[in-house]
Amino acid sequence: MKTMKEPKIDGVLDLSRYSKEKRQALEVTEEARGKRITNGFATGLFLGSPKFKPLVKTAAAKSRDGEAGEHFLKLLKHVLDHHADPDEIDRSGEIPDHLIEKLAGIGAFGIKIPREYGGLGLSQATYSRAAMELGARCGNLTALLSAHQSIGLPQPMLQYGTDEQKKRFLPKVARGAITAFALTEDEVGSDPSKLQTMAKPIEGGTRYLLNGEKLWCTNGTIARYLVVMARTPTVKKIGGKKRRAITAFVVDTRWPGVEIVRRCRFMGLRALYNGVIRFNNVRVPAENVILAPGKGMRVALNALSVGRLTLPAACAGLVRESLRITREWVSKRRQWGCEIGKHEAIAAKVADMAADAFALESMVNLTSTLVDEKVDYRLESALCKLWGTETAWRVVDDLMQIRGGRGYETAQSLAARGENPEPVERFMRDSRINRIFEGSSEIMRLYLAREALDPHLRLAGPAMDSRLSAGKRLLAVAKAGLHYAGWYPSRYLPHPFAVPSGIRTGSRSSLSYVERTSRKLARTLFHAMARHGPALEQRQLLLGRLVDVAAELYMLTAVHLQAGVILRHEAESDSTDRSEIPAVLSFLDKRTKCRVNRLFRELHENPDAKARTLSRKILDFPN
Ligand SMILES: Cc1cc2nc3c(=O)[nH]c(=O)nc-3n(C[C@H](O)[C@H](O)[C@H](O)COP(=O)(O)OP(=O)(O)OC[C@H]3O[C@@H](n4cnc5c(N)ncnc54)[C@H](O)[C@@H]3O)c2cc1C
Repeated sequence: MKTMKEPKIDGVLDLSRYSKEKRQALEVTEEARGKRITNGFATGLFLGSPKFKPLVKTAAAKSRDGEAGEHFLKLLKHVLDHHADPDEIDRSGEIPDHLIEKLAGIGAFGIKIPREYGGLGLSQATYSRAAMELGARCGNLTALLSAHQSIGLPQPMLQYGTDEQKKRFLPKVARGAITAFALTEDEVGSDPSKLQTMAKPIEGGTRYLLNGEKLWCTNGTIARYLVVMARTPTVKKIGGKKRRAITAFVVDTRWPGVEIVRRCRFMGLRALYNGVIRFNNVRVPAENVILAPGKGMRVALNALSVGRLTLPAACAGLVRESLRITREWVSKRRQWGCEIGKHEAIAAKVADMAADAFALESMVNLTSTLVDEKVDYRLESALCKLWGTETAWRVVDDLMQIRGGRGYETAQSLAARGENPEPVERFMRDSRINRIFEGSSEIMRLYLAREALDPHLRLAGPAMDSRLSAGKRLLAVAKAGLHYAGWYPSRYLPHPFAVPSGIRTGSRSSLSYVERTSRKLARTLFHAMARHGPALEQRQLLLGRLVDVAAELYMLTAVHLQAGVILRHEAESDSTDRSEIPAVLSFLDKRTKCRVNRLFRELHENPDAKARTLSRKILDFPN
């Protein structure tokens, strides 16, 4: 039977029912995903059994950087405040060399690179705080440092580099040799399966000949090193089929054959050194392969799991700055007889913004500490990226609305009229891309939904796998039935000890709500699987709503844990007036419940089917 011969990707997905193109796309991502099992807090959220205890410890953990971290952040703020002019960078479309040198001089290109390799050796928590400082001021500088450190050479090198590679590359990189990440091509956006860039082994496999063209490579026009994803010949066969191998290479841009074809320009991030890079018979030594031939997508996806935290961190800075601008403006701007902050429509936006600022910072701090403690952070990081970038976009939109015409006017024009040049218009142009790159919101929801379903697919997948014999499927049904006979009813039972001791009184009921709602989420996911079977994967809107519920629950958990730490230790928070915290918590409790109720309600009351019909008609697709 033809379907029995299809490659079985790590045992959970039956790809035989898909079109060839879609199957190839899924094969690549499933292969990159590997056999991993996520076991962090978010996995528990989707299964109806969130484990708060380890998270409480993580939230309370002190930064391992101590004075060194604070010292670096002080230096960074100084450079940004005294040597960077974000509006001029935006206007000219260039980052001055002296500023790049200043940033390199304080170690900003090697924040997480260990000291033995010439870096600062600081933690993810400090790196995220640096991203907050950058995000509050300048999208272009954020992109420069983040494309270099979050997706460029340092991150995959730290995760997968050999000692020899680390010694060879990291000291130069830490000193300011700029790096970039090159995956995207004309036909390769969110789906890497159509990669055309080829690396052919030559000279007995000691070198590769690289040919192809990469699109939108941030830092690509000024980088010394690129991490390039290229197709290499098959390295293994699975199920009798050749596996499409993708390999990650370090490419030195000074080598013959590396050509910067053009610099790309965008709506925002106007000083991005982003370009089209072509490789014409570039000879790459085999020692420059990261991890191993055929493991490129694993390198890219796992580096991105950490790397994509930089975006919500930068967004947290942006939201905090938006709140500062809002506070000042709504307290002094008077229309219709009073300050505009007193009009309820504006006051509601202020409340949302203040709560979002605290919430996003809490999520990023908590998730960064998960990374530092080497606890599973993969889903949490994706939840942060999704929630943070969507939230920041709404906040910037509200900020523009609150500033009225002055929000739409450029900072330069405001200054020329003698007004306070708040760069709201620039913020809006610069922040829109955050919902698109490093995993668009749609792709983040798909990724999170895939991970949410994984434990079920492992258990129940074989029962629906058309490639297996009837006997094997029956056995799988029996096994799954036995498991769900215990698991399913228990998702209705309250867990009186789910919220650990030590949680402040005001937060206990909120975490109980998270636990209760997590069980409802797990039940709903299970019902959806039972109802739609393998077709559930196509119900992106349904799955997206459930992912959004999980994001809200993770946010609320992070907020209460962070508030607990701040209030318990009476720590000075440089960014938050502590007296606001109880009101922020109370607001977020209510808003989360409203949002979650709406998301659950929309599972039943929605125009999804009508939208499918209408869009097919408009697009002329067959039903
Ligand atoms: C300013 C900028 C900087 C960039 N920097 C880099 C870089 O440094 N290195 C690099 O390699 N790339 C970079 N990129 C590329 C970026 O990562 C891609 O734009 C992104 O991955 C999306 O790919 P795409 O634009 O081709 O959109 P497509 O993949 O064509 O998607 C178009 C739309 O369809 C949606 N979509 C796609 N597939 C699905 C699906 N299965 N289900 C539902 N919706 C779907 C997407 O979410 C999106 O809304 C950059 C892009 C820009 C604009």
